[in-house]
Amino acid sequence: NEKSIDDEYFDSYADTEVHRTMIEDHVRTDAYHKAIMQDPSFIKDKVICDVGCGSGILSMFCAQAGAKKVYAIDASKIATQAKKVIESNGFENIITVFEGRAEDIELPEKVDVVVSEWMGYMLLYETMLPSVLHVRDKWLKPGGHMFPERATLHIALGEASWITQYEESTYDFWVALHPMYGLEMTALADHAVARYLEYAHVFMLPQKDVLSLPSTVCDLDLNKITTKELEVISSSFSLSSMGSRNLNCIVCWFDVTFPGGVKISTSPDLEDTHWQNTVLPLPDMKVVQDSTVVGVLTISQHNKRSLDIKLQYKLSTSENMLHRRYRLDENC
Ligand code: SAH
Repeated sequence: NEKSIDDEYFDSYADTEVHRTMIEDHVRTDAYHKAIMQDPSFIKDKVICDVGCGSGILSMFCAQAGAKKVYAIDASKIATQAKKVIESNGFENIITVFEGRAEDIELPEKVDVVVSEWMGYMLLYETMLPSVLHVRDKWLKPGGHMFPERATLHIALGEASWITQYEESTYDFWVALHPMYGLEMTALADHAVARYLEYAHVFMLPQKDVLSLPSTVCDLDLNKITTKELEVISSSFSLSSMGSRNLNCIVCWFDVTFPGGVKISTSPDLEDTHWQNTVLPLPDMKVVQDSTVVGVLTISQHNKRSLDIKLQYKLSTSENMLHRRYRLDENC
């Protein structure tokens, strides 16, 4: 049920390790730092709300940038530690920490800026964005700013050697290499591979294994997008192969942009981030130069925190649409 899903979710942020992973992701943390620091007109002397403050890092960046007041909210126990860190940096008069769900907190005043690091795998995993939009709608002054203010999700064709290796090692184990006490275990190998193909997988696809230019699945204006519009995101695509390869996945990545233009991109072309890429495996399909794959990708919320992904696709020259379905959850 929703309550225990949320409890588990906030528990997953109670330890410091996950906050270390995020802070260590310097592509991510440098971008927030730069976006907050570079143009004082957005933050200096302004009132800020940091939705999901975690360790308190973004709130302290805002304090360093001269914010008049920062309201830092987190529903995880990490908020207690954030308070200590904020005090030890002498920011306790500027930053007030609220421990609770962003949806339930009553702020003393409206804010000029909402800062949040809400992005999950494949942009929307974790489903934190609705909480940020809730705060926006309730507490952001008209004309106020969202940090970040724009988010885009992209897809391209891929050939992931990881998928091939998983299939090979699975058949090696169950079928080829190990005499299983004289027993025949191929059905388990088939099952393992079929299951693998039902999940979205989080890993970085080497740039040389991206087979097409990208197509944009969604381009969200975070000043305007509503929670209702996020429930189902659906987009048609047409992706053309560059060269003769063995297509075995669709690779997904996202970008976010801040007021002032700073951008975080999780593209396979660029340095790794802790989000990596999200890879939707496909049964092998030979493609040649300019083979075009057309279809529709649909992403919907499942069970509050996980995603249900539907892919319809075909080679533009073939008649029949193929259908695949994936889950993006904690098993990925
Ligand atoms: N801002 C920090 C942490 C980002 S992780 C940083 O950039 O390093 C996201 C944080 O948001 C987690 O600590 C999680 O507990 C918190 N969070 C997610 N949804 C929330 C909600 N609805 N209310 C309060 N906190 C939330």
